[in-house]
Amino acid sequence: MKEITQGLLELIAGSPSPFHAAASFAGALEAAGYSRLREEERWQLKAGGRYFVERNGSSLIAFRVPAGAWQGFLLTAAHSDSPAFKLKPNGEITGPENYLRLSAEPYGGMLMSTWLDRPLSIAGRAVVRTAAGIESRLVNIDRDLLVIPSVAIHFNREANRGYAWDPKTDLTPLLGLGTEKGALRRIVAESAAVPEEDLLGGDLYLYVRQNGTVLGANEELVAGPRLDDLQCAYACFHGFLEAEVGGGAPVFCLFDNEEVGSATRQGADGTFLQEVLGRICDALGREYPAELAGSVMVSADNAHAVHPNHPEYADGGHRPRLNGGVVVKYSASQRYTSDAVSAALFEEICRRSGVPTQAFANRSDLPGGSTLGNIANTHVSMTTVDVGLAQLAMHSAWETAGARDTEYLLRAAGAFYGAVLRPTGGGWEIGTR
Ligand code: ZN
Repeated sequence: MKEITQGLLELIAGSPSPFHAAASFAGALEAAGYSRLREEERWQLKAGGRYFVERNGSSLIAFRVPAGAWQGFLLTAAHSDSPAFKLKPNGEITGPENYLRLSAEPYGGMLMSTWLDRPLSIAGRAVVRTAAGIESRLVNIDRDLLVIPSVAIHFNREANRGYAWDPKTDLTPLLGLGTEKGALRRIVAESAAVPEEDLLGGDLYLYVRQNGTVLGANEELVAGPRLDDLQCAYACFHGFLEAEVGGGAPVFCLFDNEEVGSATRQGADGTFLQEVLGRICDALGREYPAELAGSVMVSADNAHAVHPNHPEYADGGHRPRLNGGVVVKYSASQRYTSDAVSAALFEEICRRSGVPTQAFANRSDLPGGSTLGNIANTHVSMTTVDVGLAQLAMHSAWETAGARDTEYLLRAAGAFYGAVLRPTGGGWEIGTR
């Protein structure tokens, strides 16, 4: 378990933005012998081949073409992004007095107060001018750079009685002291290794500098930034890499923009997955709808554990525990795609490999969240189950989860990819090679 938790914490530390997350996975895929495909080229795929393709540098799909007979795709999907503050193009604000601040807006629905009074930095991509044209470069100002200071209790005696945070005033980060603009540009250009005049722009986010850690009396908890959804992404990815050969073509998906509704070119509501699966079928002479009908997707996004101080938010009969196993999520309005068939299929695979599962449904008077499974399904319709790992403080800058659960999902994903699944009309045969 320690090794897996360490691997997860390293991924989080190396993935301060969705661009870095995609690059982290791309690097691991290349190291494992996967070939990078480019969307603008014709794909020539061969049996036994291992491939991946990126879109926008922030979403990624990896797949293997089995060497022997196969039917359908076996997919897991997680997201690369987390709630954060995104810098505006004309980001620097001088004043009041001699303060230099940055103009940033919320990306996704975060718990705002958790971003205050802690060292922050900036990461994302810069776009730079080169002799040949323009180019994207990863940027990570890898030092403590910013702070969003609270107002002292002496000025706001109501601060502990609930407070409506206003992002345009309360959440404006402080970059330092000075009356001249230009510091941010200088710092970003330096990180992108270009002269300032060649820095053309950037998609830059604030991020929490502190590394994730293990805590609890028995080291049973893992805590840190961006656990939603890098914990699921890590587990699904390693399940994908380490799986035995199963009956379908294994696919691992990492989508950006889940936190803002997925409706982007690289999001789960875009055409990325549909086009990649279609192109795999074309390149291998397979019939796309038939392959989809025999495909299964596990959409993995973190879930809510019962809160220790507020257990009343959990539904009476659906109360996920930390380290209680993989959570299968249900929603009558289908904000989670799980139905009785897809859930039973996933749970049976888990049961056979000794992975515990638990069920989550929102309390009936709480709308809860949504995820990418149902959105992807409107483009690429297949049997899909929504799962996740139980965590506390979802969308806080600092989240807490069960350390053992990462391994449970890793093993579940590995068993899923290694299974031989065949639809029987309302049911599935579940076998192994
Ligand atoms: Zn999520």
